[in-house]
Amino acid sequence: MKTLPIYTYGFEVLRKKTKKVIRIDDKLISLVRNMFNTMHRANGIGLASPQVGLDMALTVIDISNIEGEENNDPIVLLNPKITDSYGEATAEEGCLSIPHVRAAVTRPNEVYLEFQDLDLNKKYIELTGLFARVAQHEIDHLNGKLFIDHLTKETKSRLKEGLSHIKKGLVMTDYILADISKKDKKIDTKRILSSD
Ligand code: ZN
Repeated sequence: MKTLPIYTYGFEVLRKKTKKVIRIDDKLISLVRNMFNTMHRANGIGLASPQVGLDMALTVIDISNIEGEENNDPIVLLNPKITDSYGEATAEEGCLSIPHVRAAVTRPNEVYLEFQDLDLNKKYIELTGLFARVAQHEIDHLNGKLFIDHLTKETKSRLKEGLSHIKKGLVMTDYILADISKKDKKIDTKRILSSD
């Protein structure tokens, strides 16, 4: 299993709309494993493929390490779409791609999702609370959107310094980051997808 470097704020790949996953092969299965591994090592609860440098509509979520959420099984979402949403909730969010920056984000509290599983079977689920929040955060990633895009101008300007540090690579994390000095170079997706 591999631990993949996390692409941070400033990389173009985080701003792209991802492409639909239409084929499941060994490479994709090992990517999913590597994404779970990368997320767990970074103590994350969700990871979307743009965060590891790939523009695929794929995200993994595991909130079972959070107190009170132990009964929620980890999930892989391929090509997910929110079909309906209800209510409103505000809670603090962070993002492995935006280290040390946190802010309160208001989102629907309940969402209905349509997605495909690893056999490309269509599935429908209803999520509430933290699970719904994480799913919305990750689906945003698949559309090139970040949690900071939900904030007011005032809040965003409060976070400006932290964001500019990330863009300059002046941020320390206990997980591996992609080299920001190479942000204008083409991402070696073959290497990310190789199983070794
Ligand atoms: Zn994120």
